[in-house]
Order: sequence, then structure tokens, then C-alpha cells
Amino acid sequence: MLSEDPTKKSLTELGVTDAVQLAHRFYELRARFQRELARASEGEGWERLRDEWVGPEGSVQSRILANWIRTAPEHLKAGLVQDLQNFINEVFILSAVLQPLDQLRATDAAKIESQFRNLRGLFDREVKECRDEVDLGITERFWISPKSGVLKHIAANWRKTAPRDLVPSIGREENKLKAHITREIAERRATLESGAEESALARERIDLSLPGVIRPIGSHHLIRQVFQEIEDIFFSIGFSVVEGPEIETPYYNFEALNIPEFHPVRDDMDTFYLELPLFSDKNAAKTPLLLRTHTSPMQIRTMEKQKPPVRVIVPGKVYRRDNPDATHSFAFHQIEGLAVDTDITFCDFTGTIEYFVKQFFGPSVKTRFRPSYFPFTEPSVEFDVSCPFCGGTGAAAAGGTCSKCKGAAWIELFGAGMVDPAVYGFVNYDAKKVSGFAFGIGIDRLAMLKYGIDDIQVFFQNDVRFLKQFP
Ligand SMILES: [Zn+2]
Repeated sequence: MLSEDPTKKSLTELGVTDAVQLAHRFYELRARFQRELARASEGEGWERLRDEWVGPEGSVQSRILANWIRTAPEHLKAGLVQDLQNFINEVFILSAVLQPLDQLRATDAAKIESQFRNLRGLFDREVKECRDEVDLGITERFWISPKSGVLKHIAANWRKTAPRDLVPSIGREENKLKAHITREIAERRATLESGAEESALARERIDLSLPGVIRPIGSHHLIRQVFQEIEDIFFSIGFSVVEGPEIETPYYNFEALNIPEFHPVRDDMDTFYLELPLFSDKNAAKTPLLLRTHTSPMQIRTMEKQKPPVRVIVPGKVYRRDNPDATHSFAFHQIEGLAVDTDITFCDFTGTIEYFVKQFFGPSVKTRFRPSYFPFTEPSVEFDVSCPFCGGTGAAAAGGTCSKCKGAAWIELFGAGMVDPAVYGFVNYDAKKVSGFAFGIGIDRLAMLKYGIDDIQVFFQNDVRFLKQFP
């Protein structure tokens, strides 16, 4: 025996921690055995060698049992026992097929047949232990590899050295064994494959009792919710909804609303002009297109199409060249309102607005209006609501002044007014027969007031933590 025989050490001392390293150790042992067997067959008897390797005492096998298996980590133990069993089988098989038949004392046909029967028994045991294609591949190579398989050794060591009269029976047995091995391996392979299929099917089986994948369902953006709320209020008093283009001509955005080109209001309503070919407008002059600064152009577009009575609201996005801050954004939202009929008075106007404000903020708020100026309404007013945060007292509950109305007790809501008769001239209404009112509600501002939001930018930042607060 070699002095550095690894079977004298434990697996831990050898540094073997996984099945791959273990397989490598067995591979080395097998190679060493074959070398010793080749040497032994030239001189010493093969029985002595077999005893050294697989004998009951002091053999390689008994050292593997004592030094490797008993001290092996749990996860290697089962595989180790199997490896040892396979190794012992191989030692028996190789120690047989690497000898000439006369050394095995197989000197007649019956004894030869018995040798083959032993091999077949060993093969049957081995093939039954194959648990997967890797095992099976190793077994297949060990037995029928054309270079170094058992059958190749039989041909080289048994048949070639046999007395002439025994060659036919050796050949016959060889063919029988080869057919048996080929058939058994094919059968085992089919069994393993169908087993693999079954376990794959079991893995992929659909379990209908499992809960499904829950996709989070989104909700309407707060702005959309406020639109809906306002639309519902106006629906309930006979208004209908119309929508218009966000890209407008200066005619609809300004001129038809009584805002001629050099009107100072255009400074406040500076907007984005589009780099598109000039557009032929109503008045035949070529004009650039712009992003609408208010929803008011739809007043004109609606009245052009429709004779009185008109009761519409126009929700939508509008644009101005404002730098973003807590109360400004270059894009925001409005609802335009327009009511025109033959007998609409200022009372109808204030009554409608008051109804809306109380519906939206609650019945306890009060409204008031102050004179104001818009080019397309006459008279024009600003509507205020009593501060919903301090109950119109201007004082905060914790003392001091209310931070929302800054102690004023009133909050400015939106502008409105009776439609300027000059506007009717643009849409061929008879200013002597019809009257009406218009208003423009800033949705972002109303939402901020109602829900206590102090930065308009959160509406555009798409932060889910904010959006989730308004499901
Ligand atoms: Zn207040």
C-alpha cells in the first residue's frame, strides 16, 4: 500500500466537503486499482490484490468504511455508501475481466458461463441503482465503452488468451451480455425519462386553490376626482360637458374673447407658441398656434355652433408661461362655465355660483363677490368663500391667525361675470335679446383648498405616496 493512502485519513482531513470532491477521490482510487491490477496480473495472484482492496479486514474498503463513512458529514453519507458499493462492484468486475480466463480457473464452457452470469448480476445491480442520466452514462461507459469498457476487456483478456476450443462459447456469452446490457440501459433510460417527465409535470401542475396574482388597481388622480365632483354638481342643475382643443388659435384664445392683440391682459396670459406652419384663422390672416391659456375659447366655439339656450361647462388642461412654484405651474386645470339664454339675470348668476360653492365646500360656507375686471365679462366679479379651515373667523384653533386665509377669513376662489355683450358680436348672437354669465374655476386651486394641499407641484410629480392618500 502507498504511504499517502487517502483512505487512512478522514474526509475532513482530506478537505472533502462536497459530492464532486468525493467523486474525484473515488476516481483516483479506481485508477490506482487498475494500475495495481495490471502489475499484479503479471506476477502475483489477483486474489491477494482483491483482498487488499475489498477484503474483510485491513482493506481499502474497510478503511473507507472506518475513516470516510463513519466520520462523514450527514449530507455526504448516503452518496458515500452508494459510491463505495459501486466501487467494490467495479473492483470485483475489473479484477475479473483484466485477468486471463485461466487465472480465473474458468477452463470449460460451464465455468465460463458462470463467470458471465456473475458479471451480469453485478451489472443488473448497478443499473438498478442509476438515479439519473449522469449515473446511467457512467454505467454505460464502464460496461460498453469501445475503448475501456468491460466488454472490451473481456475481448482482450478472456477471448484472445483462451484456448481455441473455448473461443466460440466466449463469443456467444459476450454477445448475450452485450445485448442484455444494451437493452437494460435503454429500458432504464426510458424509465428515468418518464419519471423526469412526471416530476416536471408535477412541478408545473396548476394549483387552482392558490390565490392569484393581485394586480394593484389604480385610482383616479385627485385632479380627475375634483373634475368629476364639479361636473356632477353642474350636471344636477342642467349643465352639460363639452371639451375643446388644447392647441388654439389666437383668435379663439384672445380676440373673440374681446382681448385684442395689444390688450394688457395678454401679458398675464403669456403662453407657449408652437413651432408649426402658420395657421389660416377665421379672419383669413395666417397666425401661429398656441397652447390655450384658459378654457374660455370653448365659450366661443360653443356659441358658434349652438343657439341659446346654452348651459355648458368645459373641463380641461390649460397652459401659461409661469415658472413652477408652490402656487404656479406651466400646466394646470380649469373648468369653464357658460350659461346664455334670453332671461338670465345677475341673480341667476350669483345663485348658481353660491349653489356650487356650498355643494363643493359644504353648506356652512358663505360666499361673497367683489367687483373685478375681465375683458370678456361685464360686470366682472371675483368670488370669495369664507375660509373653510377657520370657519370664516380668521383665527386658528390653536390660537394666532389662520395660516390658510392669513387671518382674512375669506379665500379668493375664482373670477366670473356676466358675458360682455361685445362677445356676442363674434358669434352672431343678438346682444339685445340674450344675456348670460361665465366663470372660470381653477381646479388645482380648489383641490388644494378643499384637501389642505399647500404645493401645486404634487399634482404633477406622480409620487405614489401622495396619490395613495386619495384613493
Ligand atoms: Zn382661515
